[in-house]
Amino acid sequence: MTGMITMAYLLAAIMFILSLSGLSSQETAKRGNYYGIAGMTIAIVATIASSMVHAYGLIALAMGIGAVIGLFLAKRVEMTSMPELVAMLHSFVGLAAVLIGWGGYLEASALMGTELVIHNIEIYLGIFIGAVTLSGSLVAFAKLKGLVSGSPLTLPGRHWMNGAAILISVILLVMFVKAGHGGSTATMLMIMTLISLALGVHLVAAIGGADMPVVVSMLNSYSGWAAAATGFMLGNDLLIVTGALVGSSGAILSLIMCRGMNRSFISVIMGGFGTDSGAVADSDDGPQGDPLFLSHQEVAEELEDADSIIIVPGYGMAVAHAQQAVSELTETLRKKGKTVRFGIHPVAGRLPGHMNVLLAEANVPYDIVLEMDELNDDFPTTDMALVIGANDTVNPDAVEKPSSPIAGMPVLEVWKAKRCVVMKRSMASGYAGVANPLFFKENSRMLFGDAKDSVQEILKNLPK
Ligand code: NDP
Repeated sequence: MTGMITMAYLLAAIMFILSLSGLSSQETAKRGNYYGIAGMTIAIVATIASSMVHAYGLIALAMGIGAVIGLFLAKRVEMTSMPELVAMLHSFVGLAAVLIGWGGYLEASALMGTELVIHNIEIYLGIFIGAVTLSGSLVAFAKLKGLVSGSPLTLPGRHWMNGAAILISVILLVMFVKAGHGGSTATMLMIMTLISLALGVHLVAAIGGADMPVVVSMLNSYSGWAAAATGFMLGNDLLIVTGALVGSSGAILSLIMCRGMNRSFISVIMGGFGTDSGAVADSDDGPQGDPLFLSHQEVAEELEDADSIIIVPGYGMAVAHAQQAVSELTETLRKKGKTVRFGIHPVAGRLPGHMNVLLAEANVPYDIVLEMDELNDDFPTTDMALVIGANDTVNPDAVEKPSSPIAGMPVLEVWKAKRCVVMKRSMASGYAGVANPLFFKENSRMLFGDAKDSVQEILKNLPK
């Protein structure tokens, strides 16, 4: 039986790897999901089939309740609220790691010598990473949901406090391992649990709202490492492999997002970054003057005259559920022989890949949906850049104003197109809270209104 289970775990691990590789491109994402579902089903069945598992009734009950809650949440959740849900789910992984760690500690163990040392280190690390993930994820959830302020908590000497928390935890680890079992080890473990819970709160509280996506991805990575530590503790190979996959893919995604937002990875891990962004920024030295406007009909006329068009969608397209209308507009323009492409910023919207998912859902052909780097150089030779509900990701200050809170963030340089039309409802700023001089550029024109209504109105005005 053990051999069968090992084989099943190996198969499940291969499925998870295939799943991750499938999820890396839009064409294969569906297949990637199926691999993931198959891998998880095999993993669950194999685990339950193990001779160590007896409480079938309890497991069925827990799975039943979990499945109902999961289905309910998955059906109800808006795409724009995904980061909150993901943060909440990470907190469950953290909680599981803490509980399993404590369970492993409280369980009578016959281990001795080196084996006991290794077991104790696994328990300790599992609880430590799990507790940081648990409390950090809950704070991230509360920030994203708007339950607490998104602005960063910058206590004086906060790096020292984090450093002290880690140092004390390391000292306690040494004491805990030396003490073996019994005596004051429970107190040491309890103190470390409290310290790591506080550390998780403090690390995430110190990060500004606009940098939250990187944090959610970092917590994803932490939750993977917590699961891997739990796998070591339980001697479960699949949990180790899966945890390492989640841990490393979360870290890679964080790196990609850091690059997209021009944040340093190290400062994310230190938790003391984002002090500038997330704040409501420079209204005083923000761009001045009056923006120029176009009507729907005028935009339709300019589109009719344009040969090459780049559509840059952002969070506003998601809020307005405008993707279907945008898809129809794209089809109409392409039928007229125009070159229409989409420019996708790595952090457009509110979750990585947000725009890609929406456009795929609206059947926009994959081959015209390009990453920022693939077409950023093409704006000067493009007749029209149509910005639909994007703001921070097209802010020229990121490249033109070194003092800007988002300075250095790579952006889609839409202002270099011959004409740039910005569709949004007002002059309000985007997620980062920084003013956007794009609206005042000479070749920029604003079109106010809900993105879906505006696109539909433009479509009506386009000669068929
Ligand atoms: P922004 O958040 O910068 O701007 C979105 C704009 O959409 C707003 O200025 C808003 O202006 C407009 N808008 C809102 N509702 C509508 C509507 N119904 N119709 C038309 N327009 C609307 O979006 P971007 O996509 O450019 O940038 C994403 C930002 O979010 C970045 O700062 C990024 O760092 C951050 N972020 C990214 C995450 C990710 O992983 N992708 C996760 C979390 C945050 P108005 O109110 O005037 O209409």
